[in-house]
Amino acid sequence: METRDYSKDFKTLNIEVNGNRLVYLDSAATTQKPNVVIESIKNYYENINANPHRGAYYLSVEATKAYEESRETVKCFINAETSKEVIFTKNATEAFNLLAFSYGMDSVKAGDEIVISIAEHHSNLIPWQRVAKDKGATLKYMYTNEFGELTLDEIKSKITEKTKIVSVAQVSNALGTINNIKEIIDYAHSKGSIVIVDAAQSIPHMKVDVRELDVDFLVFSGHKLLAPMGIGVLFGKEELLQKMPPFMLGGDMVEYVYEQEATFDELPFKFEGGTQNVEAAIGLKVAIDYLEEIGMETIAKIEKELMTYAMDEIKKLPYVTVYGPSKIENRSGVISFKIEGVHPHDVASIFDSHGVAIRAGNHCAQPLMRYMGINSTCRASFYLYNKKEDVDKLIEVIKSTYNMFSKWR
Ligand code: PMP
Repeated sequence: METRDYSKDFKTLNIEVNGNRLVYLDSAATTQKPNVVIESIKNYYENINANPHRGAYYLSVEATKAYEESRETVKCFINAETSKEVIFTKNATEAFNLLAFSYGMDSVKAGDEIVISIAEHHSNLIPWQRVAKDKGATLKYMYTNEFGELTLDEIKSKITEKTKIVSVAQVSNALGTINNIKEIIDYAHSKGSIVIVDAAQSIPHMKVDVRELDVDFLVFSGHKLLAPMGIGVLFGKEELLQKMPPFMLGGDMVEYVYEQEATFDELPFKFEGGTQNVEAAIGLKVAIDYLEEIGMETIAKIEKELMTYAMDEIKKLPYVTVYGPSKIENRSGVISFKIEGVHPHDVASIFDSHGVAIRAGNHCAQPLMRYMGINSTCRASFYLYNKKEDVDKLIEVIKSTYNMFSKWR
C-alpha cells in the first residue's frame, strides 16, 4: 500500500537519539504529537486563553466555544447520541475512578459480582477491587487462553445473573489482543449487567462506534491518539449518567450551593468539577480531525501491514518468544516479546543506545504477568507514523542484542 510518510508531520520523530535516527516504537504508552496539535495549544494560549463557562467577556466566550466544539468532535468521532454523554476527564484512569465511585459504589450491593479479565490494565482493576471490598461484592476474572485471548466459553462461565458490571479492554496493552467486545456486551446484557469498555488501546487504531456496540460506558485517553496529555474521555449512556452522583465536587459543576446542601449542574458539566484542561481538549479535537482526515480504516491498514511484516520477520528468529494471539487479525499494533537470555530491561537499554524506543516491564498488568508465569516483557508498538524501515531496525537490534549476550551463554 502506497501511503504518505506521516512521520514528517511530527517534529520528535525527526530527532536523533544517541547518534541514530529515533525509531519510536512505544505508541502504546503514549503517541508523539503532530505539529498541528502543538500549534493548536500555542494558538489557544496566544489568542483565546480564559476559563470557560465563567466569563461573559470575549476570551471566555471563545474558550467556551472551543472547549465545547471539542466535545462535539468527540461525540461525532465515537457516534454518541448527544454531547451530554461525553465527559472530559484527565485520562482513562480518572474515568475508571469516576465510574467506580459514582456508578460502582452506588449500584453494587453485597453478593453482587464484578467481572473483568486477567489482562486488564491496573486502572481498570484496582478501582474494582475497592468497590468489591467496600460493598462485599466479588471481583471475578475471565482468564485468557494460551494466546492471550478470551474465549466465549470463558466469557459465559464468568458472566452470570449475579454480574452487575463487566469491564474489559477492547485491546490489551500488554499483549495486543483484540477482544470481541460486541460478543461480551451482548452476552452481559442478556444477563442484566452493564458493560464498560476500556478503549485506551483500541480507539487510536480502529473505528469505534458506541451506538453500534451498544456499550454502556467507554473510556479512553487522548494522549494515546496524538492529543496532549491530561485529557481523557468518559462516554456514558445518558440515562445512566443522569442517575449517577458526581465524582469531583467543587466549582463549575453546581447549580445552587447552600450552607449544608448543593444541587448539581446538568450533564455533562455535573462531572467536570474545577478548571478543566482546555488546551488539551482543543488539542484532542485537532488530533481527531487529523486522524479522520487520514481515515481510521487507512490507519488500521497501515498498522496491519507493519504488524504482518514484523511478525513474519520475528518468527524467523528462534530465540525470540512472542506473546499474545498467533492470528494477525486478532492482534492490534503491539508485539510483546522476550529475547532468550536477555532481561527485558537490558533489551530496552541496549535498544535505546541504537535510538530505538520500546517499553520493558509488566505494562501495568501485574496479575496478567503472574498468570502467565513471567515478570516482564519487551513491548514494541506501532502507529500510523511508523515505517517498514522501523521494523527493519527493530529486527536488526534484536539480532545484535542476542549476539551481544551470546558470549555469556
Ligand atoms: N487502559 C489501557 C488498556 C492502557 O493501555 C492504559 C495506559 N497504558 C490505561 C488504561 C490508562 O491510561 P492513562 O494512564 O492515560 O490513564
